[in-house]
Amino acid sequence: MRKSFGTVSVLNGVDLDVHRGEVVAVIGPSGSGKTTLVRTLNHLEQPDAGSVEIDGRPMGGRDRELAAQRRRVGMVFQRFNLFPHKTALQNITLAPLQQRLHDGRLAAEGRARELLRKVGMDAHAHKYPHQLSGGQQQRVAIARALAMDPSVLLFDEPTSALDPELVGEVLSVMSELAADGTTMVVVTHEMRFAREVADWVVFMDQGRVVVQGPPETVFDNSGEPRLERFFAAIS
Ligand code: ATP
Repeated sequence: MRKSFGTVSVLNGVDLDVHRGEVVAVIGPSGSGKTTLVRTLNHLEQPDAGSVEIDGRPMGGRDRELAAQRRRVGMVFQRFNLFPHKTALQNITLAPLQQRLHDGRLAAEGRARELLRKVGMDAHAHKYPHQLSGGQQQRVAIARALAMDPSVLLFDEPTSALDPELVGEVLSVMSELAADGTTMVVVTHEMRFAREVADWVVFMDQGRVVVQGPPETVFDNSGEPRLERFFAAIS
């Protein structure tokens, strides 16, 4: 896959397979194209060359077809992006109600409450985003993404906007999802999470995948100088 913005080539031929039930962590220096990669996976950005397949089918086509495919791909952003004038519960039920995913409002709310329980936020269903901490908002955002029953969940640096003491609660929800078999692609600066939770780690530099493999291979003995420079710079 390739992607440029004007004359800046941001993805220079990235090839990535994500298998069902797998957690893929994407790591790499600032500006290496990690965010652009996950945004392209969701067609928030169109690839200039190459394509994204979801459930074995290429994404694209007419608006309605693409919209249906994009619903298969959940997204959790760095800055939560909850709707500020809606409660946690309403944030979660909005898309499923619009898309008629359930048989009526009660069913949608029942599912939303289950998801709030899953992310440890059931006591806060009727709070608005401004009444919640960043970590709590991010947990609601994760529940919202799950509410569409996506095939894969994409995370773009989900903890990097959080105060340090709130990072753990979000990572622990993500670890539980991973243990439940949720398919996830996670752009992250949390090396411990990548090492302990991911099944596959992808190191990007300058728009390319430079090293990929199981965490023990990538973290312990890649022998790749660009990766070693990256680890040295962040440790
Ligand atoms: P970070 O860790 O700092 O978020 P990243 O690895 O996620 O970095 P990207 O955000 O994908 O990297 O950015 C890669 C390059 O693409 C950067 O040089 C950035 O300035 C450029 N870029 C990203 N989005 C756009 C855009 N919409 N228009 C122009 N340039 C862009």
